[in-house]
Amino acid sequence: MSIYFKQMTIIGVGLIGGSIARVCKEKNLTGKIMGFGRSESDLRKGVELGVIDSYSLDLKDAVIDADIVLLAIPVGTMVDIVKIMIPHLKNRAIITDVGSVKGYLVDKIEELLPKEIPFVGGHPIAGTERSGVESSFLTLFKDSNCILTPTGKTDREALKKIEELWHAAGAKVILMNAMDHDRILAAISHLPHVVAYALVNTIGDMNKENNILSLAAGGFRDFTRIASGDSVMWRDICLLNKDNIIEIITQFQGSLERLKRYIKKENRTRLKEEFNKANSIRKLMV
Ligand code: NAP
Repeated sequence: MSIYFKQMTIIGVGLIGGSIARVCKEKNLTGKIMGFGRSESDLRKGVELGVIDSYSLDLKDAVIDADIVLLAIPVGTMVDIVKIMIPHLKNRAIITDVGSVKGYLVDKIEELLPKEIPFVGGHPIAGTERSGVESSFLTLFKDSNCILTPTGKTDREALKKIEELWHAAGAKVILMNAMDHDRILAAISHLPHVVAYALVNTIGDMNKENNILSLAAGGFRDFTRIASGDSVMWRDICLLNKDNIIEIITQFQGSLERLKRYIKKENRTRLKEEFNKANSIRKLMV
């Protein structure tokens, strides 16, 4: 199937929205790309960079002629935006999203949309700690995975088109239940971000007295890179995936407590076993 959308509207022309817009332009998947956001200067930058063709600060204007609307704003704002745009959408316009949490959003958006407007939930597993349209780039999704979370209500033709869109971006598409997505992402993405934020704050509090951060080397930098992620985006993710994140934080606390106990007791054997176990698990990733 080859896809072509006369107009794509991107709600939130930032890192992810801007990168998918670049793919659509490069591969001629759209006639026109319209942007919507709150800051005119950012949207103007999107036009100057050639990422979008035009923009509107009025949601109705932005979506009224769209054949596809891509939601690429923080997850906590998506439902309200969908509520406002529904009366202005064309019949059969496809709505899709890139939000990092799926269960709540997929349920809510499907409940809100009339059945003539198909919705496909999605989450590209690619990104950086940077934000904004100037950080977007064409190859962000190349060789990455993109999870789509169809339900019993999902329109099959719309799903195929969204699969094609992500294939065009260079991503491998994985279909998954939204609840499984949230449980897995809590472990492999949301927990590491929470831990990075907590670690940086712990060291930051010590840093008030001595400038110890100036001594931190590559390991600290690598480990904490993701603590530069946008605070609104991560606040929203934590709140919308609260139960899964709390559960995995509790498991992580157990692992930390175990290490603390072995260190306290100077249990050389157990400590080495723990580190060896982590070494072997880490090797599975390479
Ligand atoms: P971003 O670079 O900060 O872009 C977000 C965009 O949304 C900005 O252009 C912002 O522009 C706009 N925006 C924010 N709040 C808005 C609102 N209330 N109404 C209208 N526009 C609004 O963020 P991003 O990294 O692209 O993330 C976007 C989405 O992708 C999030 O849902 C995130 O969970 C998901 N995601 C992110 C990553 C990642 O690594 N970054 C990876 C996968 C998925 P204005 O401030 O001008 O409105």
